[in-house]
Amino acid sequence: MRPVLLITGGSTGIGAACARGAARQGYDIALNYRNSEAEANAVADACRADGARVLLCRGDVADPAEINGVFAAIDAEFRRLDALINNAGIVDQTATLTQMDHARLRRMFDINVIGAMLVAKEAVLRMQAQGEGGVIVNISSAAARLGSGKQYLDYAASKAAIDCFTKGLSDEVAADNIRVMAVRPGLIETPIHAKGGEPGRADKLAHMVPMQRKGTAEEIARPVLWLLSEEASYITGSTLDVTGGR
Ligand code: NAD
Repeated sequence: MRPVLLITGGSTGIGAACARGAARQGYDIALNYRNSEAEANAVADACRADGARVLLCRGDVADPAEINGVFAAIDAEFRRLDALINNAGIVDQTATLTQMDHARLRRMFDINVIGAMLVAKEAVLRMQAQGEGGVIVNISSAAARLGSGKQYLDYAASKAAIDCFTKGLSDEVAADNIRVMAVRPGLIETPIHAKGGEPGRADKLAHMVPMQRKGTAEEIARPVLWLLSEEASYITGSTLDVTGGR
């Protein structure tokens, strides 16, 4: 039986690379996306070509009712859930704290933190009910260590919350054989930089990376999928930097 994997924000960037890699490794996939339906369809087609059963599930992770809708669709289609890549996330325009308002901070934390926690909650409920364990990889960021002052410290703080949440949840569910880890990507070429108003950001800052280059979405997907696999069976609570040394 193929394990069932939910990927949030799976239509682009790192999430899409994870979906394609997971299909090749034998997972069936629930692919969550917010509004990029055409891109989600393209990722789903590629996964199906590699033999995966794919459920496309639209839903905003900042909206608890929409999260419930995503899980209701998964329950109806697969009746189980074995793994989660908690990947959906946003950045915002470059700004200092004094330029940030309440609405910006609420949106950042609603999506990057509360959304990820509620998605993990629903996944854990199902994994505990199945009684066969499970695996969760949260997508953090090197920003959680770096702080990202004068860039987007709200984003960095949201990812630091994810690191702390990863450790706490891993302790809560370890006895249920549910492993919980985080991956901290560094500078990765994906659409996220353009959405934050800086399309050339990964190239511009590549000189700050010890390896002197940006990374690819596939270079994040491979360690994420390794953490999901039995190869990583004694790892939980850990946060892995995948940053070219930054
Ligand atoms: P991306 O913009 O391609 O992917 C983010 C995905 O999340 C998009 O598909 C987007 O539609 C989705 N999303 C955003 N808000 C959502 C919501 N409310 N509900 C559902 N989906 C939502 O960029 P990416 O770089 O692939 O980002 C993936 C993850 O990697 C994010 O959590 C990001 O913070 C993290 N990350 C990226 C980098 C980088 O340099 N690219 C570095 C560190 C961490």
